[in-house]
Amino acid sequence: MKYELKQHFQIESARFLPNLPPEHPCSRMHGHSFKIILTLVGDLDPHIGWVIDYNDIQSKMLPLITLIDHRVLNEVEGLENPTSELLAKWLFDRACIHIPSLRKVSVAETPMTECSYPA
Ligand SMILES: [Zn+2]
Repeated sequence: MKYELKQHFQIESARFLPNLPPEHPCSRMHGHSFKIILTLVGDLDPHIGWVIDYNDIQSKMLPLITLIDHRVLNEVEGLENPTSELLAKWLFDRACIHIPSLRKVSVAETPMTECSYPA
């Protein structure tokens, strides 16, 4: 029987979106409190009664979170155009190596918006 787990992280980061026209506000340097939500799918450990220790996910994500928290995202290798869509893919591509049960990374740049990769 499969379970779906979610774990939330929050980072504070600055960015600008270089491919937008200069009159667009997101082309200027600005900051977001990004919420990052991981979705994992896995089987229940029948003895412990859980799928995975949330602390293990936290430990595996910490090096990645450190790379992007309180940073200018444009200065991070691979995030030269740090849209939320590309940030979600950047995180998924790296995190799935260490967290095989990872199915999706969602990035919410405001409380009203959220995008996920892969769909
Ligand atoms: Zn923005």
